Amino acid sequence: MRLDKYISNAKIGTRREVKALIKSGKVKVNEKIIKKSDYKVTNEIIEVNNNIITPHKKIYIMFNKPKGILSANKDYKRKTVFDLIKHPYVNELSIAGRLDLDVHGLLLLSNDGTFIHKVISPKKNVYKTYEIIFEGVFTEEKKKRLESGIKLNEFTTKPAIVSLLSKNKLELKILEGKFHQVKRMIASIDLKLIDLKRTSIGSLKVDIPEGTYRELKEFEYLSFL
Ligand code: URA
Repeated sequence: MRLDKYISNAKIGTRREVKALIKSGKVKVNEKIIKKSDYKVTNEIIEVNNNIITPHKKIYIMFNKPKGILSANKDYKRKTVFDLIKHPYVNELSIAGRLDLDVHGLLLLSNDGTFIHKVISPKKNVYKTYEIIFEGVFTEEKKKRLESGIKLNEFTTKPAIVSLLSKNKLELKILEGKFHQVKRMIASIDLKLIDLKRTSIGSLKVDIPEGTYRELKEFEYLSFL
């Protein structure tokens, strides 16, 4: 197969964009830069921007979102998650549960729709764990309210798992991901939220520095499927 066809089959760009990539020296075949689009390939190792590509591979990514980065595809004013992920499949990825602009921590992204559904659907019982720094007094009564379900405008939250980590730090595990859910839960028990971070989804903990990403290992993404 022609090199440009192989690469565009991997959904890295249009044929025209791929040709430009090849011409600019961004493509390697078996570690050698190749600048000819009609170069014939069969089962060589193909790299684009130093990432090995495989056509139509399923990709599962963990990203540690900093505050101030949007969980959206494109924005003309602000940086988005997709501006920070320099992966050849970035255009195919969807986010499994967005985070607000002022929230940081674990985001999962994939081009596998089944995976996205299993992560976000409350019916699949995948807990999302948040660390909350707050101002105010946390009482046993407030803990019980979070644990039994809090009535927000349009729904009542499923029972949460709650631990007080220190005087002003709480860990909250919830099953849903409704709009501003944690912020609304905290406001409804009269606490002032100072910082909100998602630390885990299911058994997967964020373990990379803020602003960076990594692909999940097989056992990690299989734990959701
Ligand atoms: N809850 C919120 O309020 N915001 C988020 O970004 C995630 C959960």
